[in-house]
Amino acid sequence: MAGIYIHIPFCKSKCNYCDFYSETFQNKNTTEKYVLALQKEIDLRIDYLDNYKIETIYFGGGTPSVLSVNQINSIFDKINDSFEISKNLEFTFEANPDDINLKYLENLKKQTKINRLSIGLQSFYNDDLKLMNRRHNALQSKKAIRDAQKAGFNNISGDLIYGLPKMTAQKWENNLDAFFELNLQHLSAYHLTYESGTLFYKWLKNKKLSEINENNSIEQFEILMKKAESNNFIHYEISNFGKTNYFSKHNSNYWNRVKYMGLGASAHSYNGKEREWNITNVNKYISSIFENKIPSEKEILSAQDKLNEYIMTSLRTSAGIDFDYMKNSFDKKETSFIEKQLNNKLETGFIQKTNNFYSLTKKGKFISDAIISELFYC
Ligand code: SF4
Repeated sequence: MAGIYIHIPFCKSKCNYCDFYSETFQNKNTTEKYVLALQKEIDLRIDYLDNYKIETIYFGGGTPSVLSVNQINSIFDKINDSFEISKNLEFTFEANPDDINLKYLENLKKQTKINRLSIGLQSFYNDDLKLMNRRHNALQSKKAIRDAQKAGFNNISGDLIYGLPKMTAQKWENNLDAFFELNLQHLSAYHLTYESGTLFYKWLKNKKLSEINENNSIEQFEILMKKAESNNFIHYEISNFGKTNYFSKHNSNYWNRVKYMGLGASAHSYNGKEREWNITNVNKYISSIFENKIPSEKEILSAQDKLNEYIMTSLRTSAGIDFDYMKNSFDKKETSFIEKQLNNKLETGFIQKTNNFYSLTKKGKFISDAIISELFYC
């Protein structure tokens, strides 16, 4: 099984915290050329996935909801003509509340194979949305969800951000209550990070805003876990929660090191041996593809890279590190070193062991990044 990620790098404006690659210019001509380039890249990468069956397709961004139904279908048809697609395909489409309306969603439902929506809600407070420079307001978020449900989508994920400047525990709790009232199937909740190159980062450096303190961060993460649990959402990855049978297959495959092919400017690919990333420039991407060259750089993963990636991705999931898999896949010297490290961590109460799986305890989840980096083999 394999996955395909398609990056649509256009946004009407830039959100103040976002470091994903996107351009704020967009005209019909560029979008049309970009859609053609994506199809051409499929031809150029036809052997990349070694004939593996496609289990997931994910349109992310940027803003995929700037595409018309015809454009989405022309990309899907090209994938369908080029690869074998699983009958149980999960086809996710990211959308922003301000871009979608009932008519568009009904067309997506009736005329495309999209069966999962991921909607960037971020907050139900207009002051937070304004601070983040989101283009929608809280009412539009709720309407977008109701319209998606009315259109017949029954696998919908929403994104929320916590740890925003001055965010109180009460405000975060209210956001989660508003989210769970909407009766969605999946939640991705991210703590705000200040990525260099973003306006938030600049404001942090200029002291125009300040980070919330660590205790408040921990409190908000705790609230998140409690609320999710009381609403029967399973915490299956540090930032992801879903009802049974509604975990994101596409993202789970990333964490399980399944091969995927990324198409479009800035998209990443992984074939089990190498990681590859396309150029982060729409115009250069388009012209290179039409010269039959994939504009990308590659990194061949060493055994150590693969081991550290395994530790990082598996410890973020609720299943954790499968020690039998580790023993069978990596060098004996490296695995014994990691085993020793893991066993030391058992005593700290940050890691637990069930059968041959090592996973983070609730206490460990609060400081997952620190624990994971301490375990890296170097
Ligand atoms: S958060 Fe989404 S909508 Fe906002 S700039 Fe980033 S990609 Fe675009």
